[in-house]
Amino acid sequence: MVMHQNFINGRFEAVGGEGIPVLNPARDTVISEIPDSSADAVDQAVAAARKAQTSWEKLPAIERAGFLRQISAKIRENADEIARVISEEQGKILPLATVEAHFTANYIDYMAEWARRIEGEIIQSDRAGETVLLFRQPLGVVGGILPWNFPFFLIARKMAPALITGNSIVIKPSEETPNNAALFARLVTETDLPDGIFNIVYGRGGTTGRAISLHPDVKMVSFTGSVDTGSKIMADCAKNITKVNLELGGKAPAIVVKDADLDLAARCIKQSRVLNTGQVCNAAERVYVDETIAEEFVEKLSAEMKATRYGDPLGNDELDMGPIINKAGLAKIDELVTSAMSGGAQCVLGGKVADLGMGNHYEPTVLTNCRQDMDIIQKEIFGPVLPVITFSDIDQAIDYANDTVFGLTSSIYTTNLNTALRAANELHFGETYINRENFEAMQGYHAGHGRSGIGGADGKHGLLEYTQTHLAYIQT
Ligand code: NAD
Repeated sequence: MVMHQNFINGRFEAVGGEGIPVLNPARDTVISEIPDSSADAVDQAVAAARKAQTSWEKLPAIERAGFLRQISAKIRENADEIARVISEEQGKILPLATVEAHFTANYIDYMAEWARRIEGEIIQSDRAGETVLLFRQPLGVVGGILPWNFPFFLIARKMAPALITGNSIVIKPSEETPNNAALFARLVTETDLPDGIFNIVYGRGGTTGRAISLHPDVKMVSFTGSVDTGSKIMADCAKNITKVNLELGGKAPAIVVKDADLDLAARCIKQSRVLNTGQVCNAAERVYVDETIAEEFVEKLSAEMKATRYGDPLGNDELDMGPIINKAGLAKIDELVTSAMSGGAQCVLGGKVADLGMGNHYEPTVLTNCRQDMDIIQKEIFGPVLPVITFSDIDQAIDYANDTVFGLTSSIYTTNLNTALRAANELHFGETYINRENFEAMQGYHAGHGRSGIGGADGKHGLLEYTQTHLAYIQT
């Protein structure tokens, strides 16, 4: 059994203590173990990152870009192995895991391209003979705390903008998916990246994660995960006034109006909901359909969902989705579905745990007759379940969609440009997809409103999150 070692200052460091088992969620087998790193181990990683960062920030950004491109090249060379590792521990189907590996390499290259475009400003002064300069400077050491759903990509989503802008980073992967992070570290050792710039510490949120948030030398915690954890991280970061960047949960509404292409809507919403087994922050989580076309649409949507093939992703190449990440996630989905049904929702398809003899599988599910006050409409499901509500006009649809504490993404299906523009203006979400579902573009800006987060990732705006301003007033 592999017991992963932290990656600190360019070396793998053993940590004592009892290991946390890592499971294959399709087979219920233990595939590796990680240590629950203490505050001392985190301190060692932060100290190494801090020391290395002082020379790193002095390098021309174009030289930092060169190191990033070495990492992306290694990822491309090893994409098949990366995909297999992600699939085994996270349950993603192999084609999607392969996309994740290549997208990660492309993302790192995209961030490397910013090397010549990190620009400051020259501001007009009120004083004669004075020049006011605004510099964009690195923060120092960034802490990256990750979830399990796109574990490999999320390392890069934090590491690449941090490094190109002159920061160093300490990453804590999810305890569910550390194997891909260990592989990432191995690939980094095959490049010339200076020691200490990229570090990994393994462990539970309550120990290793908290030690990162509470560390006085961590200048920003960049976190992706649930709202509850985001709130705890903010509270811990408050102690040292540490900056937070939070990418949290979502409850994306998909609105289908009368004039929509119903086949397109059914296909896109289904694909979004079964992608990564529904465990995507910006996947369609609730469907609003015009009451006059509801019957026809639900029939199409159910037929699409029914065709979903699922099982063990390493045992079958022909699947649309794999397992749910763990037993707790599976139980949460089942509880939401059961409680909706006892509250009056009608189960058109699925509605229960799938018995495949092993692993955490849930049947593709469609529920109608749902209501706004149901937990299944208000809480994140994170599984292959689509609750449906009908509406009488677009005002009601937009009101329903906005009736949530989340604000990450939303979608609308319409062939009328006015309706599309109205939705883009009136939906209170960071992103609105029109006639399609997720994903977001790396050159866009992925940032949630409301409890979906603070700050964001990707593009120019995401890059600047990893910088702070410094003004110089030069009087001549
Ligand atoms: P989670 O919040 O349970 O855990 C995420 C990470 O936080 C893990 O590494 C965990 O160990 C750590 N953690 C837990 N408690 C902590 C604490 N007190 N202090 C510091 N760290 C702590 O989330 P998850 O179940 O791994 O991921 C699923 C969630 O992530 C969903 O809500 C999903 O919507 C969200 N997500 C959001 C985005 C986005 O871009 N907005 C992307 C992917 C996933």
